[in-house]
Amino acid sequence: QSQELSQARIDYHVALQALQEHGTRMVCTGKMHTDRICRFDYLCYCSEAEEFVFFHSNSSVMLPNLGSRRFQPALLDLSSVEDHNTQYFNFLELPAATLKFMPKPVFVPDVTLILNRFNPDNLMHVFHDDLLPAYYTMKQYSDLDDEARLVFMEGWGEGPHFDLYRLLSSKQPLLKEQLRNFGKLMCFTKSYVGLSKMTTWYQYGFVQPQGPKANMLVSGNEIRQFARALMEKMNITRVEEIEKDGGSAEDEKEKEKKDEYIVVFSRSTTRLILNEAEFIMALAQEFQMRVVTVSLEDQSFPSIVQMISSATMLVSMHGAQLITSLFLPRGAVVVELFPFAVNPEQYTPYKTLASLPGMDLHYISWRNTKEENTITHPDRPWEQGGIAHLEKEEQERILSSKDVPRHLCCRNPEWLFRIYQDTLVDIPSFLEVLKEGMKTKPSFKKSKPASTVHPGRVREPQCQTSVQTTNEAKLTVSWQIPWNLKYLKVREVKYEVWIQEQGENTYMPYILPQQNYTFSENIKPFTTYLVWVRCIFNKNLLGPFADVLMCRT
Ligand code: UDP
Repeated sequence: QSQELSQARIDYHVALQALQEHGTRMVCTGKMHTDRICRFDYLCYCSEAEEFVFFHSNSSVMLPNLGSRRFQPALLDLSSVEDHNTQYFNFLELPAATLKFMPKPVFVPDVTLILNRFNPDNLMHVFHDDLLPAYYTMKQYSDLDDEARLVFMEGWGEGPHFDLYRLLSSKQPLLKEQLRNFGKLMCFTKSYVGLSKMTTWYQYGFVQPQGPKANMLVSGNEIRQFARALMEKMNITRVEEIEKDGGSAEDEKEKEKKDEYIVVFSRSTTRLILNEAEFIMALAQEFQMRVVTVSLEDQSFPSIVQMISSATMLVSMHGAQLITSLFLPRGAVVVELFPFAVNPEQYTPYKTLASLPGMDLHYISWRNTKEENTITHPDRPWEQGGIAHLEKEEQERILSSKDVPRHLCCRNPEWLFRIYQDTLVDIPSFLEVLKEGMKTKPSFKKSKPASTVHPGRVREPQCQTSVQTTNEAKLTVSWQIPWNLKYLKVREVKYEVWIQEQGENTYMPYILPQQNYTFSENIKPFTTYLVWVRCIFNKNLLGPFADVLMCRT
């Protein structure tokens, strides 16, 4: 590794001199530690102290300059999980003059992204907390390109999914434990610290029970672009995309039909489907389709993604492997099974993913409601749901409960006990739920994402008024189409007009198909009305309101 970081590409003496003279420079984005990413010149790391070091000189920059608020609680979150107190980043400070008493620094020439992986053993966490945020952090800063170096500071080993992290750049990512190989003091010529949280959609229940994030900022489009980029790196092409030979539309349809298949993602050690063979047969029979089984234990990850990327339906017990639904084609169905006493509405990372706008996946959940069909494991270690370590009374309470109450992350024994049950899937009940769920499946036009172009402001809004009698008046409002509409083919264009009497709290809303309208109901003479107008495409794409009109009758 030390060879890899050979000093050839930078002039050592120039770098050392720059560090000594200019010290460290930091410029960050973000008002709070939870939305901050910092860019550094010459951020150093002391492996002996296991601390980052900021060297002060006359030309150092530290923006934001928080003083001791930097420790309340930290400069920034090093993982994408919001405000987790084991994932904070900070640095120690020293005057640059102390460098002459320190070991000679080793300089890292690569532009580096420094972050914590949150839980690299768990595939869902790998994607949601690390890969997606790192991918889009790299998109945000153009010098974090394919040659960027990633450094993982959480302190774990490579973990079972390290190959996935390798896809983010052409350089081998470094682990915290490897940093000491580079000597006592290493200095990153250029680095970014922290991860964008823009793409995360789920919170794990550290302060309130788990659920979708309050303010989701990602759409299916960004998830799918990421998926496509990862598939390219894995050398996977969707089967549909290669099979583009001639033939009539009918042939094509017939062929597509024949090629449709269901993927059952199975787990082989915990949370099992006990009658998997029967379960697969039932699926095949019901849908008259091929059913393919995959598992992380039996297949390489790329071969699983290859399978999923052209599947019609993905069926799996609740669990991290369901994150692979982000590789499903548009219009596919995700079916998630839940063990006895676990409420699907309370554990929704995969439902939320499937339901992101533009993800175009249809989500269906089934839960085992028959206690006789569940196999519990009270004697396993607590982290696999064992309860033998609990007091007798508590064990009995858990055993007799039919629904896990809402709880916080991460060690609730009742939750672990129930989520690690094995399940004998009741086929009739499962097929019933599935058929019922399929009834509400919209027909996603194949591989044609819905348009997300929003209307611009309506132009030249105007009002004209006239008084009819002492208690009747008219208000005519007119406007021009939004500028971008003349370049668009929009199925349905409507306009929304709000009329508010000045000083009142309420307003009257109207939806209109045309560009002008004369209001006479509820319009009083000698009154001032505030009028807002906006355009709406296809029922739900709202444009901005034009400047408010003041209309005096
Ligand atoms: N896992 C697996 N097969 C199993 C059990 C687990 O492949 O039989 C994987 C699972 O997909 C996840 C990791 O091992 O990536 C950890 O599983 P765990 O049950 O702890 O987490 P969960 O799936 O509930 O998120």
